[in-house]
Amino acid sequence: RQLVAQLREKGIQNEMVLEAIGKIPRHLFMDNAFLEFAYQDKAFPIACGQTISQPFTVAYQTQLLDPAKGEKVLEIGTGSGYQSAVLAESGAKVFSIERHKPLHEETRKRLDLLNYFSIKTHYGDGFKGLPAFAPFDKILVTCGAPEIPQLLLGQLKVGGIMVIPVGSLTEQVMTTVIKKPGGETEVIHFDTFRFVPMLGDKVR
Ligand code: SAH
Repeated sequence: RQLVAQLREKGIQNEMVLEAIGKIPRHLFMDNAFLEFAYQDKAFPIACGQTISQPFTVAYQTQLLDPAKGEKVLEIGTGSGYQSAVLAESGAKVFSIERHKPLHEETRKRLDLLNYFSIKTHYGDGFKGLPAFAPFDKILVTCGAPEIPQLLLGQLKVGGIMVIPVGSLTEQVMTTVIKKPGGETEVIHFDTFRFVPMLGDKVR
């Protein structure tokens, strides 16, 4: 409840998002070593040198994405699965891709234990998306991208939105990309964040 109150103070207004964060046991998505800090508004290390995003960042991205019941949402960067769970609470059909196999496997077990069977997790390269399940109503990228991946844009429905942090390794601008009929895009920039990098399958 304190975390939800803090997020409200920081400007998060979407009730669905606040309710999901109030309901999901974040401590079960983190390493034991950080348990006592699980409801602080901070990012923490997870397996494979990655991080579970700060709750404010999760709320901010979800608020921009505005997922709704029945929508197909593709997430790039499953990580701990926490963001996937927040999306699932909206009733969206969640597909999520992770490039680190141990993280993908550990998170699949966690999501099953927490009854999030509806979240479909995939091991692979998020730059390629999931052509077999496209098109998606919405796409959420939870790692810092060097640019807007065109393959992902191709898997977005007309009228759909992608939320993606775009920039350098040290700083990214939260960006929304709306796909218009005819194929043009409307790009809007928001605040600056710092994510772990979005890496292709050639990087070890
Ligand atoms: N949404 C996650 C955030 C994890 S950090 C959570 O709630 O915990 C971002 C994740 O993106 C990392 O796990 C990283 O391995 C993954 N990632 C980076 N580049 C990727 C790519 N090309 N495809 C899939 N996942 C990627």
